[in-house]
Amino acid sequence: MIEIKDLKASVEEKEILKGLNLNIGPGEVHAIMGPNGAGKSTLGNVLAGREGYEVTGGSATLNGKDILDLDPEERAREGLFLAFQYPVEIPGVSNLEFLKASVDAVREQQGKPALDSVQFLKLAREKCKAVNLDQSFLKRGVNEGFSGGEKKRNELMQMMLLEPSLCILDETDSGLDIDALQVVAEGVNAMRDENRSFIVVTHYQRLLDYIVPDYVHVLANGRIVKSGGKELALELEEKGYGWLENGNENGA
Ligand code: ADP
Ligand code: MG
Ligand code: MG
Repeated sequence: MIEIKDLKASVEEKEILKGLNLNIGPGEVHAIMGPNGAGKSTLGNVLAGREGYEVTGGSATLNGKDILDLDPEERAREGLFLAFQYPVEIPGVSNLEFLKASVDAVREQQGKPALDSVQFLKLAREKCKAVNLDQSFLKRGVNEGFSGGEKKRNELMQMMLLEPSLCILDETDSGLDIDALQVVAEGVNAMRDENRSFIVVTHYQRLLDYIVPDYVHVLANGRIVKSGGKELALELEEKGYGWLENGNENGA
């Protein structure tokens, strides 16, 4: 469903992704690990179409469609969702309004009518429950005064409401205590299904005890340098990344 071929991308004239190859089938969960500064977040940002990232080569197709020329809203319409690394605070805009606006925007792009407010409130309350957030969070300003764990659970709720087909989770675990991590992992696991794929970027093997991936890849120096099953995460925890850093020139 997502096919990334020889992807090259730069930030401020500096090449960060240097020919990255990755294929993800429907329903699969792929974990991406790798040293700091390797380009993991850059990959998510490039796929989501975030500003400031210049694609200089290669392709990325989602369900057969090249997404690299689309603007971020169009990518969301195609079912892509990037979560977790930079939760924005929007004081003065209630979380409920924000969530509804984001769902309506995607529905509009997809040619579907907006949900009516009563319907949406009911849905949002259900999702609040599912991620273990009090319903009062719907009335508060977006992320305003939320703890790290609350921001992530809120974003998970947004993801549940949007029902994307490709979810990219960047450092889902950073700043989470074990209870919050379990809530987020349970939410992700509940969303796993045969038509939805996940890219889970993490520094720590620990998360992968809760979100068990089908494949683990090491991204080092702008390329995938090793791929394996979930046991690769354990090996990395034991050995670190040093033995891989120079990578193989062919990627994976
Ligand atoms: P990772 O997520 O693997 O730790 P990143 O993708 O965040 O790595 O960063 C890869 C490299 O790109 C780093 O050297 C980082 O400093 C640089 N980089 C990423 N985003 C930006 C940006 N917006 N502006 C300047 N440099 C950036
Ligand atoms: Mg980093
Ligand atoms: Mg990162």
